Amino acid sequence: MTKPTSEEWLAIARGLLSAITVASFVLICQLGGWLKPLQFVLEDLRFSASPRAASDSLVIVQIDPASISYVGRWPWPRGVHAQVIDKLIALRAKDIAIDIDFSSPSTPSEDTKLAEALRRAGGNVILPAFKQATFASNGMNSTVAKLPIGLFAEQSWIANVNVLSDADGKVREMTPSDTVDGQTIPALAVMLGGFSFNEKRFRIDYGIDPSTIDRVSVAELLQNKVAADRISNKKVIVGATAIELRDYVLVPVHGFISGPLFHAVATETLLQNRILHDPGLYLSLAFLAAAAVLGGALLARRKLLSAISVLLTAAAAVEATALFLYSRDALLIDTSGIQCLFVGFGLIALLQEIDLSKINLGLVMTEARNLRAVLAQVVTDNFDGIIIVDEAGLIEASSERAGEILSVPRRNLEVGRHIENCLPAEFRHALEEAIDQFRQGAWRGLPPAECLLTSANGVRVLEYVVTPSRLQRRVAAWRRHVVDRHVACLTFRDITEQRQLEQETFRLARYSELTGLPNRHSLYEKVNELLRKGNDPLAIMVLDVDRFRTINTTLGHKYGDTLLQAVANRLTSLSGEVRMAAHLGADDFALILGGWTRSEELSEIANLIIFAMSQPYSIGMRQLHLSLSAGVFVFTERTESPLEAAMMADNALLAAKQSGGGTCKFHQEEITAKVAHRQAIEIDLWLALEKKQFEVLYQPQVDLFANRIIGAEALLRWNHPSRGQIPPSEFIPIAEVTGMIIPLGRWALQKACCDAAAWRPDCKVAVNLSVQQLLSGNLISDVEDALQISGLSREQLELEVTEGVFIHDTHQAIDAMQRLRHHGIKVSLDDFGTGYSSLSYLSSFPFNRLKIDKSFVSMLHESATARAIVTTIVTMAQRIKIGVIAEGIETAEQVRILRLLGCREGQGFYYGEPQAAERFALALLQEMGERLNSASKAGVIIDNGHAPVRWARGID
Ligand code: C2E
Ligand code: CA
Ligand code: CA
Repeated sequence: MTKPTSEEWLAIARGLLSAITVASFVLICQLGGWLKPLQFVLEDLRFSASPRAASDSLVIVQIDPASISYVGRWPWPRGVHAQVIDKLIALRAKDIAIDIDFSSPSTPSEDTKLAEALRRAGGNVILPAFKQATFASNGMNSTVAKLPIGLFAEQSWIANVNVLSDADGKVREMTPSDTVDGQTIPALAVMLGGFSFNEKRFRIDYGIDPSTIDRVSVAELLQNKVAADRISNKKVIVGATAIELRDYVLVPVHGFISGPLFHAVATETLLQNRILHDPGLYLSLAFLAAAAVLGGALLARRKLLSAISVLLTAAAAVEATALFLYSRDALLIDTSGIQCLFVGFGLIALLQEIDLSKINLGLVMTEARNLRAVLAQVVTDNFDGIIIVDEAGLIEASSERAGEILSVPRRNLEVGRHIENCLPAEFRHALEEAIDQFRQGAWRGLPPAECLLTSANGVRVLEYVVTPSRLQRRVAAWRRHVVDRHVACLTFRDITEQRQLEQETFRLARYSELTGLPNRHSLYEKVNELLRKGNDPLAIMVLDVDRFRTINTTLGHKYGDTLLQAVANRLTSLSGEVRMAAHLGADDFALILGGWTRSEELSEIANLIIFAMSQPYSIGMRQLHLSLSAGVFVFTERTESPLEAAMMADNALLAAKQSGGGTCKFHQEEITAKVAHRQAIEIDLWLALEKKQFEVLYQPQVDLFANRIIGAEALLRWNHPSRGQIPPSEFIPIAEVTGMIIPLGRWALQKACCDAAAWRPDCKVAVNLSVQQLLSGNLISDVEDALQISGLSREQLELEVTEGVFIHDTHQAIDAMQRLRHHGIKVSLDDFGTGYSSLSYLSSFPFNRLKIDKSFVSMLHESATARAIVTTIVTMAQRIKIGVIAEGIETAEQVRILRLLGCREGQGFYYGEPQAAERFALALLQEMGERLNSASKAGVIIDNGHAPVRWARGID
């Protein structure tokens, strides 16, 4: 056997200690009597387990129901008792005990009969004495001694039939004698058992089976039906067994038994020498002590199951021994204490097994295991890349995502791998530094950082954060000594898309999506920055593509966008004084200009820019001529905000637009006023048509050779109630921009047709048409309506369009004009030779007439070029067989030259200013009169086209 270790000694001591504790507890219980119930149960078990038969020397003569009914009444006349005695004597009974109350006299004759019988029995009869409790009316309880009356007592023995019951009501023991009424009287059992002893009490052996005691009925006896051998030489107890006589005693094992039977069992106990003995407290204590030692040893060394089985065996052995001793020696050992001890030991063994600390530890460990599993899952399945590294640079855990983000195989990040081979240098350094600093107590925490990772997926932006922590590790399970170790957790995520999105959002917030140029926001920022920086002269130039709206609607938005991109590209290519080019939205652009030295320089710069921007754009297969208007604001005070500056530059731009576009205007106070004026007009314009403030004037068109009115151009006027007559140059562009031109143009057309319907049939009316009208889609119906309402012949109507419709070279415009032609409406090309005039237009559409712009006419007398252009136009028109009319003829000299150049038709102030309808109609009539007059005088027809006759000008 090996020597027990210190731990084992400790366990043994602990076992003994608990054994002693339980033993002391049990002892206290035993001494306190609390184990009595268990003791009685164990005794009863022993009685049942070892039954024994009666000795056959005792018989009970019972007053049973049959006997009572045989006699016919109760109490019996005492003569009946006398008969019973006589019969028993006759049957040679040995001793006769009559357990009937004879303590009061009955009738003298009956009493005498009994007394006589007693006498005949020769003193062999025992009569009972007992104490009876009485309940007095005053509440005082007392006991009354009941002894047979003297008459009987003289002839018999007296025995005590009192019983002693335990707390549970059961009668277990007897006193051999008792004092009744001053005299000591032996117990009935003692008297019958023939036993003399000095014990104060003795215990009845209920192992003696009462059913084995012979019984005969009084009725049978009186009828002589009882065999002699049943009574002969036997001790007889006569007593009541009928339930109604209520002589019953509660005893262990057998329950309620009749008084006579109880006395019989008690008697048998004595007869068989079965008084039960208790070995005494000391033996119990010795037993207890032995059991405690046994238990202590058990608890110290055994496993639960073996401990329990040993305990059960011991308990069984104890009981078996007790049974054996009871059965053989009538020894009644109290084993309740020992059994309790065994139960106690069993419980302790059980408790040791399911030691609470063990339960707790189990719970904690399960918890920890679960937590670890959850954490491992959290790490593994995390959306972020997570890598936990120890001091040695070995991976302790990593997430699935980590490998994906870093584009390394998952196995490279397995537990136990060294980071050297699988992590980017920046991450490695961050991890190592974090652990170092943490160990030295210098770690202050770091905000998330970013790094670039070049991988198979290209360059990615990773955001990462490192958090070191300290872990404790026990050196050995039983020692308290723990050591620190450090780990660092690297968390990272791929924020490439997020950064791109941010950049994109930033770009969208600062740059035009369409052109990529900085937007208004950026422009203002830049202006602010330059204003802050220094004294470099500074200006904002806003630019706007002329008629861009038309380009957009006619060529389509896609084309419009491409054009804007081209414009933006050209703006970016500008260098020198341009500090920034911005796209403010739609066709609005802006430049920041700076660095000029003289103020005149700025105007040159601006003009150069306009010039550069107006060079043809080739978009797709198409060459597009554009004009741009610009407005400039110069920061003279340098106190204006960029917003104010831009607004003032806008005003200048509006002014430039109003002056026909293609130019640049500088901001001046008047411009601001003009803009305000224009805005006021815009508001009034919408109501003007409804309020009938418009009027159509007619400017005569003349045959230059015949000096004869051939028609008139219809020109709109707005008679404003407060501003007076407003010229079309002021309101037409606004009407065009606002869309008002459509109803206004429709009205003008109708009015012109109606007026012209009153003229002579060979006099035509030319009505101006805006591009919007031409492209509106309703033009044909508008024209047809006008012709129908007025009744004018369609040969008399001519529509004038400018070259503007060709800027876009649109099929739509040509289609519209073609449709007009099909409806028999003539179309002339207005302002020919200005803007982007090109003779190629003429091949696209066969106009009826070209109108040579007044700018050529005014130059005719001084410019050979002007004359050459006019000659070319006239020659070409003749070749393609279309008419030519010169506009803006103001002098006779101009008329002369035009005639020389072969131009046949003309209009201008020289022949007549635009005039009201009535006046023009009057002029027509007047001319008619004059012609008729001169024709009759000269005999020539004026309109032969050869004789140049000056038509009276200034009809007004
Ligand atoms: P436009 O079609 O070129 O009209 C000729 C302009 O020249 C008229 O100006 C006329 O008054 C002016 N004019 C005529 N003879 C002379 C001259 O000898 N010397 C000078 N310096 N000017 C002369 P107005 O009436 O102010 O019209 C200006 C423009 O407004 C027109 O130019 C035309 O484009 C537009 N307009 C006028 N009425 C209408 C209309 O009903 N519809 C549309 N869409 N446009 C109209
Ligand atoms: Ca015109
Ligand atoms: Ca014109």
